[in-house]
Amino acid sequence: MATFTLKDILQNSAYDQGRLRAISTLDAIVVHSSATPAHMVDIGAATVHQWHLQRGFSAIGYHFVVQRGGLTTPQAGRPLTRVGAHTKGSNRRTLGICMVGGTDPKGDPQDNFTQAQYDTLAHLIELLRAEHGPLTLAGHRDMPKAATSCPSFDVALWASSLVPSAEPELSNVGTRNALSSARKTNVELQNEITRLNKCISAISDQVNGLKRR
Ligand SMILES: [Zn+2]
Repeated sequence: MATFTLKDILQNSAYDQGRLRAISTLDAIVVHSSATPAHMVDIGAATVHQWHLQRGFSAIGYHFVVQRGGLTTPQAGRPLTRVGAHTKGSNRRTLGICMVGGTDPKGDPQDNFTQAQYDTLAHLIELLRAEHGPLTLAGHRDMPKAATSCPSFDVALWASSLVPSAEPELSNVGTRNALSSARKTNVELQNEITRLNKCISAISDQVNGLKRR
């Protein structure tokens, strides 16, 4: 079972080149594969970063990499605040997650991901939705005009099979929103109290003035 937090992953992000475009609005998560065979177990964010530099990108194009080999914490790719390079035409408002694997040794699409990878993916999506609201979820191949079989599995079907442990996360969002609006009300009340105190002292100055006459 996956138990990492977003902080665990993001503190290791080493791919902010400082000149990547900032994301203004986030509305979806796109799942990809590295299009590599199951026996290539050593691929991680550092490898993909090198591949993408060779393709002329400024940095790794994905925001997260889910490795093979039983590791349960995803690796940080491009910072969450930066526009990725993973889904042509849809990068500006989406986060890209790369699952390592996805092809057979001949390079044909193959759903060869491990259960640990799927568990990690599910937990990562829960964390991202708790932090950024109800992001929609899609596989690369489901995106507009995508001519690809990436990520080699049906993301919508997989997501629908998940046990809805997302409920507590959603109510977390509700609780956090309630808390933040309560804090705002608190600040407004404090300001009102300050304003009334000023009125009271102005009035008592006037009263004192009248008394002295
Ligand atoms: Zn892809």
